[in-house]
Amino acid sequence: MKYVDEFRQPEACQRLIQEICHTATRRWTLMEVCGGQTHGLLRYGIDTALESAVRLIHGPGCPVCVTPLEAIDMAIDLAQRPGVTVVSFGDMLRVPGSRESLLETRANCGHVRIVYSPLDAVRFAREHPDEHVVFFAVGFETTAPATAVAVRQAGELALENFSMLVAHVRVQPAMEMLAASRDSLVQGFLGAGHVCTVAGFDSYRSFVEKYRLPVVVTGFEPVDLLTGILECVRQLEQGRAEVVNCYGRSAAAAGNVEALAIMDDVYEICDRPWRGLGTIPGGGFRLRPKWARFDAERRFQRCEASARDSAECRSGDVLTGRIKPTECEHFGNRCTPESPLGAPMVSAEGACAAYYRYAASRNGVKV
Ligand code: SF4
Repeated sequence: MKYVDEFRQPEACQRLIQEICHTATRRWTLMEVCGGQTHGLLRYGIDTALESAVRLIHGPGCPVCVTPLEAIDMAIDLAQRPGVTVVSFGDMLRVPGSRESLLETRANCGHVRIVYSPLDAVRFAREHPDEHVVFFAVGFETTAPATAVAVRQAGELALENFSMLVAHVRVQPAMEMLAASRDSLVQGFLGAGHVCTVAGFDSYRSFVEKYRLPVVVTGFEPVDLLTGILECVRQLEQGRAEVVNCYGRSAAAAGNVEALAIMDDVYEICDRPWRGLGTIPGGGFRLRPKWARFDAERRFQRCEASARDSAECRSGDVLTGRIKPTECEHFGNRCTPESPLGAPMVSAEGACAAYYRYAASRNGVKV
């Protein structure tokens, strides 16, 4: 398959692994920002192949994992109200709120549906004029444009029974928070290829200047990942810190200009709490006042949520790279994909799910 097979060739991977090991004179600590990259690294055994040269720590780039408890609790509260149906992606339904998940709410007669896109949610609202449909919108800059398109479509259709609970987040402010943290171990970032495809990577230039950390925009196939790691290691060995794009078949410096224009029409930047990380200045999007009629937070009164993350789940430590999932005492015993204690074990992009799927047996966990 074009654009996939050539980025999975074993010989190319072997060459890159040898070059990285040959280039590194010491062990460097790199963070891959995106959960899709974490899964790629684990799936292809890149983390162990490079063990002597690179320590890979996993970043907060799993949208379901960082959706705050307050937002999940509000979605649950809405789903329990008469005449309201909450719709969202399947992953989101399984993430525990402070008392239960949306899936459990549905089992307890709450009104919850799975959709595959925000436009499905708009269609569902059109087909069910007697219900108020709330789309629970989560994700990074990758999914935010589709939500923005749905808001504009709902506007064109003058839908009265549709709104959004917007919990979209922005990657770069989270990287800033990690880079500025005193106990940060990160020496270089593998930038999230999909996010940069939408948002571009021009804005990383000031970031790199400020923190003196390389940012290498990286894709998701093994050759992509190894190429990004090699570039990062080269920069570190030479004492350089630059923004380099190793995902040229998808990402461009200015990003997707059309998508950014739609997002700018629909959203404004806001401070946003991230699960496990706290409130990040400029860390999210909310609807602009001109779209307020579609804002579920303005339309419905907020529930009195006593939102507090589970004391047992160490997702904050996992999402900031302070521990590996296998260092959590509940990994693979009390916490599994079938019975997750926290979001990183639920999501298809969660680091704990990646370790469970690809690396648990290395750590003596029976799967
Ligand atoms: S293994 Fe489970 S309990 Fe531990 S950090 Fe991951 S999701 Fe949380």
